[in-house]
Amino acid sequence: MVNQDPEYYIDGVRSGNRRILAKTITMIESAHPTHRQLGRSVVDSLLPDAGKAVRLGITGVPGVGKSTFIESFGMMLVERGHNVAVLAVDPSSTRSGGSIMADKTRMERLATAPAAFIRPSPSSGTLGGVGRMTRETMLVCEAAGFDVVIVETVGVGQSETTVASMVDFFLVLMLAGAGDELQGIKKGVLELADALAINKADGDNVEKAEKARRSYEMALHLLNPATPTWSPPVLTCSALNLVGIDHIWSTVKEYRQRLSATGELDEKRRRQALAWMWSRIEDGLRERFYSHPQVSARLRDIEASVQRGELSPTVGAESLLFLLDNNR
Ligand code: GDP
Repeated sequence: MVNQDPEYYIDGVRSGNRRILAKTITMIESAHPTHRQLGRSVVDSLLPDAGKAVRLGITGVPGVGKSTFIESFGMMLVERGHNVAVLAVDPSSTRSGGSIMADKTRMERLATAPAAFIRPSPSSGTLGGVGRMTRETMLVCEAAGFDVVIVETVGVGQSETTVASMVDFFLVLMLAGAGDELQGIKKGVLELADALAINKADGDNVEKAEKARRSYEMALHLLNPATPTWSPPVLTCSALNLVGIDHIWSTVKEYRQRLSATGELDEKRRRQALAWMWSRIEDGLRERFYSHPQVSARLRDIEASVQRGELSPTVGAESLLFLLDNNR
């Protein structure tokens, strides 16, 4: 049975109750309108408690070592007294129906650490785009007292842009010698990065990693940094052997210090909040369109007429959009 009292969730999250936190997130992700409504009002009430965490996004192709990295990095933070939440934006889950990311079995130690919370990405069945509810989930985790929130994604489709638009710092993990194409690295991803880290810089791979580091450094130099306050550094690390992990954390802290001092961090968060509102408006309009009974009744016919050339695309679009104004 679902408890309908918002106070139950608000108090539970504020007191750091994991079970209630998990339930709240389920509510936020729910496709059920009443549950979602409840989830939204809980998020609203918790908003003043959110915003104090370090928000860190991590991306990289499958196999680059994201889960190994998050396990090592997260454990290091937990051992230093931080509370760490790990969320995932997994574009593949909508297709396969199962989640491959932030899987608890992939981060065994972190998953059982009392100061950590791992939330796999929602599987198919949720409405709207990838990661739509991740931002709300992040805010709820912050209200529950997590002071570091890590959002993980693989480099597919829009997911990287989505994640970069909700975090303070976006870290791109890379491999040495795999070639840009192989890694699926698009120039756009380099533009999103606040730092690059070449992982698996251990054993025979150390030299190759250093070479890759230098060439990525050159590639980044050719791009204009988003702000004069910060030029994204290229680092190396071994998630497996815990080498360079600490340096990545100090890089994140330094970034926050510098951008806080200039006011850019607050500005970035304000910009992100507004952009998020707009993307939610677009989601909402799309949802309203597809769920409108008259639209779904006419959609296929109109599509077919446009395909046959009997109806112009503009007229087809307008007649469908016109239906939205009916019976509402
Ligand atoms: P993900 O798909 O990006 O989450 O990658 P995983 O964390 O699952 O790692 C993929 C494989 O790379 C696993 O076999 C890991 O043990 C290995 N791996 C991850 N990090 C390192 C590292 O720093 N050094 C080495 N040698 N192997 C690593």
